[in-house]
Order: sequence, then C-alpha cells, then structure tokens
Amino acid sequence: MSDHYVKVKVQLEQMKSSGEGAEKEDTDIIDDEVPMASPPASVSPIPASCTTAARRDASKTSVTGRNRSKSWRKLGKDERNTYTKQESDPAPQGTIVAANEGKPLNQIDNERQMLQIKEIGKILLGQTETNGNIVAPNQRPKEFKVGPHCKEDGNTVAKRRKPVTVDTSKAKTSLEALKLSIRHLKWKEFPVGRRSACDIYWHGVSFHDNDNILSGQVNKFPGMIEMLRKINLSRAVRTMQELFPEEYNFYPRSWILPEEYQLFSTQSRLTKNSDASLKPTFIVKPDGGSQGDGIYLIRDPSDLRVIAGSQTKQSVVQEYIHKPLLIDKLKFDIRLYVLVKSLEPLEIYIAKEGLARFCTEPYQEPSQKNLSHVFMHLTNYSLNVQSGNFIHSDSLSSGSKRTFSSVLYRLASKGVDIRKVWSDIISLVIKTIFALVPELKVYYLADIPPGKPGPTCFQILGFDILLMKNLKPVLLEVNANPSMRIEHEQKVSPGVFEYVPSPVDEEVKVGVIRDTLRLMDPAQGKSPTSHPEQQQEEMLMEGGSPERRAGEEGGVLPSLFLKQVFPKYTKQFSYLRTVERIAALFLRFLGVKGNMRLGPTGFRTFIRNCKLSNSNLSMASVDILYIDITRRWSNMLPDSREAGMCLQAFVEAFFYLAQRRFKSLPLREQVVSLLEMCEGQLENHGVGGPGGSLPEDSTCSSRRSVSCSRTQPGRTHHPHHTSTAGQDLSAPQLCSPAALRRASSQDYRLRQRPRPPHTHKANVEN
Ligand code: ADP
Repeated sequence: MSDHYVKVKVQLEQMKSSGEGAEKEDTDIIDDEVPMASPPASVSPIPASCTTAARRDASKTSVTGRNRSKSWRKLGKDERNTYTKQESDPAPQGTIVAANEGKPLNQIDNERQMLQIKEIGKILLGQTETNGNIVAPNQRPKEFKVGPHCKEDGNTVAKRRKPVTVDTSKAKTSLEALKLSIRHLKWKEFPVGRRSACDIYWHGVSFHDNDNILSGQVNKFPGMIEMLRKINLSRAVRTMQELFPEEYNFYPRSWILPEEYQLFSTQSRLTKNSDASLKPTFIVKPDGGSQGDGIYLIRDPSDLRVIAGSQTKQSVVQEYIHKPLLIDKLKFDIRLYVLVKSLEPLEIYIAKEGLARFCTEPYQEPSQKNLSHVFMHLTNYSLNVQSGNFIHSDSLSSGSKRTFSSVLYRLASKGVDIRKVWSDIISLVIKTIFALVPELKVYYLADIPPGKPGPTCFQILGFDILLMKNLKPVLLEVNANPSMRIEHEQKVSPGVFEYVPSPVDEEVKVGVIRDTLRLMDPAQGKSPTSHPEQQQEEMLMEGGSPERRAGEEGGVLPSLFLKQVFPKYTKQFSYLRTVERIAALFLRFLGVKGNMRLGPTGFRTFIRNCKLSNSNLSMASVDILYIDITRRWSNMLPDSREAGMCLQAFVEAFFYLAQRRFKSLPLREQVVSLLEMCEGQLENHGVGGPGGSLPEDSTCSSRRSVSCSRTQPGRTHHPHHTSTAGQDLSAPQLCSPAALRRASSQDYRLRQRPRPPHTHKANVEN
C-alpha cells in the first residue's frame, strides 16, 4: 500500500471514529458529505457525473487538445455526445487495482466500507457515487447507464408525458453545456424561442433577456446582477457583519470608494501605527469589473489610482489575504456553483464538484517589487491562460484548472481535516445568500408583483473562495453569471484559434446545469401519492419525476450533483435571518406595486402601526430621520430611478430606532427586540388596525409578500451635528457604526459619479 494511500486511510479512519463519537452538540458545525466523489485520475478516474469529459479522462488516452478537437468535430452532434454502453461502463478496474496495490476489488470494497464516515457522508476511494451511496465500480447496477448518451433500454418506454420545454434562444455562452444537459434529459429545446410558453427560459445574462415572460421559470432573478456588484455585495455583507461580526468574518475588511476613502485612509494608518512591522497590502477592485479587469494591489492609500481630478473610481478596496494556502507553491482559488432554487421559501443547493483555478507564477508574499505580478497574485483563469506557464490538462486533477474534489483529495492526503473545510464552505455560502436575500426580495416584488402574471426564478451563482493558509475559507466575490463555457480557445496557427473541449469544465458545468434542470422540472411534486418531500427525494434519486424518468436517456441518471444545504441546515442558521425580517416590514409598508422605495407616508405608517412613536420619539423626529437617511442613501445610489427610502436606508433607520429604544443591549439584541415588538404589534392589530392608518396603497401592501411562486426633501438635518443621546428626540442621533461611518464620509459621497442604470457588465464572465 502506498504511503499516500495509508495517510488518507488513517485520516479517514480518524474522521470516522470522531464521527461515531459523541452526538454532535455544536449546532454551528455542519456534518456534511465531503464532496470527494472524484479522486484524482491516478487513483480512480471514475467521475461523479459521468460526463463526456470524464470519459475522456477515464480512457487515459493521451490525446492532444487539438487532435481531440478534430475528432470531436468530425462527429455529428449526436454521435459526438453519444457513448456506447461499453464506454459508459465503470472505469478501467486496472487503475483501481494499481492504486490499491493489486488487491482484489471486493477486498478494497470492504476497506472502503470501513472508511465510511458515519453521518458525514462518504469519502470515496476509487469508486463513484450513486444516489448518495457508495457503489464500487464492480457493483454498479446494471441499469445505471452513465453518460448523457446511452440508449434507452426496452423497459423505459412509453408513459411519457410531454417533454419539458426549454427556450435556449438567449443562453449565450452556456449554450453548449445546456444543449448537452437537455439532450441528456430528453427534454425539448427551442433554440430560437417559441410562440407559446416554454417551461424553462435559460438566459445568458439577466432576468430581462427575454421580456414579457408570463409563466414558467427563468434562470435569473431580477436584481441579482445589481446585488452582486462588488460594492453592493460588500454593503450587504457589512450590514450582516454589524449584527453578527463573528459569523461574517469570512469576508475581508472592505471599504467603498470613493465615499469611504477617508475612513480607509485613517484605518490603514492606525493599523500601521499600532505595529510598525505590519505592512498591510490592499487589493482594489472596480465595482463593475470581472475577470480581474482593473484590479491592482497597493500598500498605501496614496497609491490609489485616480480618475478625473482627485477622484477614485467606484470600487471596493479590500484587505489582501497575504497568506493563502498554496499547492505546489501556487496560489489558487475555488469556484463553487450554488443554485438558489427559490427565494420564498429559501432553497439553496451547492454543487458537490467545483473548480480550482491556479496561478501560473509561484507565490510570494506581497512586496513592493512583486505587487504588479498578476500571475502570482490573481487566480483568474482569463488572466492566467495568457501566461506561457498555463497548463491545459486532459486530467481532472492536474493542470492550471482542476476539480475541487481533486484538491480536497490532495489536502486529505496531507492530513487536512477536509470535513471541516467543507463544512466552513457550506456555512459561508448560506450566510452570504442570507445577506443577499432581503434586497433580492425587494427586486423580485418590483418586477413580478403579486397578482401580475410572471415566471418564477432560480439562478446558478459562482462563488469564488480563497482558502487561507490556516484553511479558513474567505469569500472573494459572487458571480451572477459564472462562465458556463465547456470549451477553451486554442491557437491552431498564428492568428487562428479554435474551440476545443475542456474536460474539466465539461465535467463540472454540465453536471451543474443538468441537475439544476432536474431540480426545476415542473412535474416535480405533482404526484398526489406521497409526501412531496419524500416524492421529490425519490424522484431526484432516480433521475427526475416518475413520468419523466421513462423519457430520459438511459432510464436512470447519475446521482444529483447538487446538494441541498438550505433548508436542510435551517436549525443552525435561521437566527441569522434578522435583516430578512426587517425587509418583510419594509415590503409590508412599501405600497404601490412595482416600487422599491418607501415614501414618507409609508414610513410614518410603519412607525404608527408598530407603535414606535411615543413621548420620546415624536412624529416630527420620525420625519427628520426619514429625510436624513433617505437623502444620504440617495446620494450613495445615484442610479436609482425612484425617489424614497431604499431597503438599506430602512435597515439603517431600524438599527437606529432599535438603539434608541433598547439602549443597554448589544446591537443584535436591540434589533431583535425591536423586531419582536413590531411583529407583535402588527400581528395583534393587523395593518390598518387600531392606531394605524394604511400605507399609500393599503390593498396592495397588505397583500404584499414575497411569494416567489406564482400560486401564490425638505429640511436638511445632519444628526451628528445635533444634540446628544437622551436629549430632544426631534434631533435624532445616528449612533450605529455604519451610520457614523457613512456620515463621516459625506464629502466623498457627494462627489460620486453616477452609474449607468441597468449595467449588466458586472459579474458577467461570459
Ligand atoms: P474579478 O471579478 O475581477 O475576478 P475578484 O474579486 O474575483 O474579481 O478578484 C480577482 C482575483 O484577485 C481573485 O480571483 C483572487 O485571486 C484575487 N483576490 C481578490 N480579492 C482578494 C483578497 N482580498 N485577497 C487576496 N486575493 C484576492
């Protein structure tokens, strides 16, 4: 047995025994199946999702990309994507035997059983996974026909309902992976759209790619692009950091430029003064940028690049993580695909497989000399692919772009507790989505108000995560439109390029799209026979709805690539959904359909209905509070089409009111106490109940809830210039850290350049 194998085995056994030990007490820890379905090809080339790419890898034939490309191109479309039964059989056993030093497979299998980790899932050594169970290569059920292209057998006939219809006319660069997935599921593609409605609309960029969709499901949420711009993401996470600093410490300290320049400058100086040996580095990222565009490193605020006069570009400046985990001396980051299946109720899935993207120049801690070495500091594929050192590999576990599971495998072999790493990543993903959801709900209701016909939405997001040297995951950014390309460009001769298949991209991305489609199958949950959850589980495990299963190629599909993490882990995380509760109040008083901003009357009604006004808080001071906060946020969000109080401003006002009323408590408890008070009042009296008049459009606002299923200027007042706490309440003091911070950077806010409305460039990798 090789040393490598022994090490992994020992670690897995340790994990097993710890997993079998005491019942888990700590609810913050997630015991989850570690996504190691595809060990490196040298151990087992059997892929998790059984895609064409994996088949190539499994065959272990060394084919150059170019040759591969040619033969790939020579085949007809169907043939290109069709594998015979023989091809779809388990990977060559010889490989596994070799990896396990000649042991017979049944013995390896027994050992494998030993390596299972109770409850946390299964670390797979030399086998693929089906329906969440370990299946050894030689035990794979006969009917399990892998690959998208196996012929239907005689048993899986008829009973076929109309296939699910997918409009792919706007799919853009996702098209190739989408086509493969649709073909795999035997659904029906409409490449140029369709006069009648489709079940699913696949958009390449935004919810608005196709207008006037009245039914079905669209793979984008309204507002997601806007929410995931770097500044908005930073703001959303920061609000959560104010309430839950420990829980949200996975996001590097960030400042929004130009409005927080002064704060950034002061804080970086204080850091340096506190310890002269500290030489912090910062990374500057333009707000709407992607693929590393415009990013640079600095060591001092005076190094910020300026545009027009002394103005800095709209951007986020962030603490640079200077001790990342390295593999072979190279920095890398992880791209994980996350599906938001629904906003209400919130459902989140994480792909069990992702990508690891490597730098192409050995890493050194930042110094004045190497700050501009992008191949050393930035892991973006689009940048590194231009380096002569970039390695395109046919294997899934080597080269400059690899599977995430191969990295985990490698880490496990070095004794890393990968179970903890995976659990921390799941937690990071859930918390990040929690930060986005409140505002997404506002966008959603503005675009698809209740009562108006429209589609439901889902979306695949690309999470970029860096592992620090101490293995702590750090969120770099979230992409609203992660690249779903499964080919890469290759130079054939000077100036001539062709697209060649990229096995690693295909392995991961086709799995993600195919399983997203399976989860969004409109037939799901329609059978009255069993409990919906159970039914869904059964259907998914077996490859789709019972009706559709017969229609899918191969009868039974590989196990789901996507794993539900929410509501699965509701118990551990739901206490973090505080801002969502504030957003529910905001939405309740928002009034007119399609609005995203609360008018002064709505705000007053909120105060009155929740009985927040008393001798300490006059309605005049409520008005001043409204005007002050609204004006400041309007300056910060100059591209808004509407006047009024945005959700962030409402949240700030809410924090302020909570601080005033529950002075002695920590902020989080202040806010929760006020929430309980407001919710209690509204429950007792209902909107328009005693003591409360209705907001502008009472009928609408009382009905207004985010059911993402279709069934269902005056006086200027600067508070920091006014009286102290406890004094005249018509002069409210903004004492939340955010408020002070925002107030302190007022000069910079006023000099902001307006952003063009509806810019879809941000976070678009395609
Ligand atoms: P883009 O959208 O342009 O790709 P990112 O935020 O993903 O912007 O940053 C690009 C790259 O810069 C990341 O892939 C990562 O390698 C590096 N990077 C970003 N933020 C940090 C940070 N705070 N610390 C260290 N490296 C970072």
